[in-house]
Amino acid sequence: MKSPSYIGRFAPTPSGYLHFGSLVAALASYLDARAVGGKWLMRMEDLDPPREEPGAQTAILNTLETYGFEWDGELVRQSDRHEAYQDIINRWFSYGLAYACTCSRKQLEDFQGIYPGFCRNAGHSPDNAAIRIRVPELEYRFEDRVQGEFRQHLGRDVGDFVIKRRDGFYAYQLAVVLDDGWQGVTDIVRGADLLDSTPRQLYLQELLGLPQPRYLHVPLITQPDGHKLGKSYRSPPLPVDQATPLLMRALRALGQPVTDELSFATPREVLGWGIAHWNADLIPRVASIEEARID
Ligand code: GLU
Ligand code: ZN
Repeated sequence: MKSPSYIGRFAPTPSGYLHFGSLVAALASYLDARAVGGKWLMRMEDLDPPREEPGAQTAILNTLETYGFEWDGELVRQSDRHEAYQDIINRWFSYGLAYACTCSRKQLEDFQGIYPGFCRNAGHSPDNAAIRIRVPELEYRFEDRVQGEFRQHLGRDVGDFVIKRRDGFYAYQLAVVLDDGWQGVTDIVRGADLLDSTPRQLYLQELLGLPQPRYLHVPLITQPDGHKLGKSYRSPPLPVDQATPLLMRALRALGQPVTDELSFATPREVLGWGIAHWNADLIPRVASIEEARID
């Protein structure tokens, strides 16, 4: 079914080069958009310059191009969007919905990442402080297209969370929701490591009066040694000369029935095959290590 109103996106963080796990996420979001004639946008989530790997932005975009991906419109950089983020923070701060937190890491270390609310009513100034958003004592739930139902109680399992860091950088949770809303994204396809960020994002969407997008969280790819391929683990960058075999592996990790004849195709042709045959119902909840292995 064609749905030209579909707007998808890929939103890499330039803290490292593209690895196999991010290729799987990029591929799934690309095919899901193109299979219905939708748009596919590219957004660089460069919110954290100290953790940015020099040259990573260019390398990510070059790799995607070599692998045959084409995005619609101009690349958006989150580093160009600080004003929009700060405006919302100011508004929420003036309503008392957001507040300044001066807690040290040490003060919070016994709470397993759930903020105990120490600064909720302290009335600290926002200078040199983190900014947190108050969360309601409510459970947020959504139906993921692959992972099924996911629920999380924001008060109990998360607590008031950071929307601006003490060092002045904006938090991913805030920026991603504002940008997806601003860019009109209807469908979010990304790695399952972000499943448990989604309820926080649903809450921010609600505050902003944004429509809730559809979600599809692709399985995480684990290495044979059990390591997750991801930001925290130095996985090798994708080789430029292996585009066709790696795209085929990524298709297999997504449960798509690739045949060996595709080995002789160009990366563009592999993507074309993927668009024509895309079936999101075949995506496994957990990727088989064998299928995903890169050697
Ligand atoms: N920038 C995030 C990452 O690279 C992805 C954000 C998202 O897709 O919502 O993990
Ligand atoms: Zn605090």
